[in-house]
Amino acid sequence: RAKDAGGGQVELFASHMHADVVRRLELQSELRRALADGDFTLEYQPIVDLAGSQVLGVEALLRWWRDGVLVPPDSFIGPAEESGLIVELGAWTMREAFRTVVACRASSWDIGLSVNLSARQIRSPRFVEDVAEMLAEAGLPPDRLTLEVTEEMLVEEAAETVPRLRALRELGVRLAIDDFGTGYASLVYLRQLPVDAIKIDPSFTAALGDDQTVTRLTRTIVRLGQDLGMTVVAEGIERPEQLDLLREMGCAHGQGFLVARPMSAAGVAALAEERAGRLSVAGTDA
Ligand code: C2E
Ligand code: MG
Ligand code: MG
Ligand code: MG
Repeated sequence: RAKDAGGGQVELFASHMHADVVRRLELQSELRRALADGDFTLEYQPIVDLAGSQVLGVEALLRWWRDGVLVPPDSFIGPAEESGLIVELGAWTMREAFRTVVACRASSWDIGLSVNLSARQIRSPRFVEDVAEMLAEAGLPPDRLTLEVTEEMLVEEAAETVPRLRALRELGVRLAIDDFGTGYASLVYLRQLPVDAIKIDPSFTAALGDDQTVTRLTRTIVRLGQDLGMTVVAEGIERPEQLDLLREMGCAHGQGFLVARPMSAAGVAALAEERAGRLSVAGTDA
């Protein structure tokens, strides 16, 4: 397009590109500074047993306090991946989350932790050793950690990634496929990798009951997970009808604003102390 435009427009196009590159570089150095300054924090969203209301674990979710404004991960994970900062940021996330969860375990709550991974982290050569070391340092049993990966991460560079994920699995770490149903090649990779859990994407949950095709697909995914011996976690549960349908389908675990919003580390600690990890969820007796 720039080719058939006049010279002035080509320059304009180039300067737009330049501005974009500069913005990204600025953001990347801002992110690096934020990590050094301690401007990142974690929130934790409970994952519950849908049949009862026991909180089985929490998923760590990164937050960035940028000049007092909370920035959601979707706007900075990409740039952090591009610059490679995600490797350090991911390690910070694990150390921080391990500490929070180990503190809850001290009040004898056998809580699990889920952490989201980026492809770039798995590609870092020391990744498996680093995770093993951080777990040992924190005193968190490996089988209480679930690493969430996406289907894309399994497909891209599979020759390198799959053996590392297997090595983690051999340490006892659990693996979950996040955003399940939105990627491709799911079934092929499910066979190649010892995956412990699949997380049904919130776009399915959102349409439950309203869209018959999605409802049938969700039922099929739940059954598939059960047949393969995997834990099925439904994400994005917001309405009681969705919860009812998921329970009726036999979906074991769930997460969503209806159950609990992401909370601070102090919130998780309070949950551990005051209620021994129970939440009151519509339709259960806790
Ligand atoms: P995800 O791993 O699929 O995390 C679930 C997202 O859904 C979270 O958004 C959570 O706040 C949101 N959520 C939970 N319940 C509900 C609900 O009932 N309704 C709706 N509408 N949303 C709900 P969040 O925290 O903004 O994170 C977005 C994504 O950013 C995550 O998706 C994950 O892919 C990524 N992310 C977050 N933390 C990290 C991290 O530490 N490392 C990496 N690599 N990625 C992260
Ligand atoms: Mg996740
Ligand atoms: Mg998800
Ligand atoms: Mg996601």
